[in-house]
Amino acid sequence: MHCPFCSAIDTKVIDSRLVAEGHQVRRRRECLLCHERFTTFETAELLLPRVIKSNGCREPFNEDKLRGGIQRALEKRPVSLEAVEESINRIKSKLRATGERELDSKLIGNLVMEELKSLDKVAYIRFASVYRSFEDIREFGEEIARLEK
Ligand SMILES: [Zn+2]
Repeated sequence: MHCPFCSAIDTKVIDSRLVAEGHQVRRRRECLLCHERFTTFETAELLLPRVIKSNGCREPFNEDKLRGGIQRALEKRPVSLEAVEESINRIKSKLRATGERELDSKLIGNLVMEELKSLDKVAYIRFASVYRSFEDIREFGEEIARLEK
């Protein structure tokens, strides 16, 4: 990577070790040009489980897709981007905490619903109506009634 001090293109790794119980690599680097030293941390993004879709296909967890779904539900709702990012992080750490290598997409959907429920009731209903595809208007009404309690 480029030197953060002088932007030189060549830096060399002078030390490399595992940290955070082996989940992270810490590297000491030295710039070949200005000889400044700096540290980088490398973490695998593979720690998130793969997603099993309803048709049985497996796909890598896609954070953009998750964010897109949440943002669609929250369109024109008074919820800050920061709150959305916090929700996404909470969902990701719950997914990691399962320790599973593959997870049903339903489980992710349920986590999203949980988060939306506390973020914004309207967004929750929007998401739930698409995601759960309520059978009829009565079921939909019941869900809204539950929220109003
Ligand atoms: Zn440099």
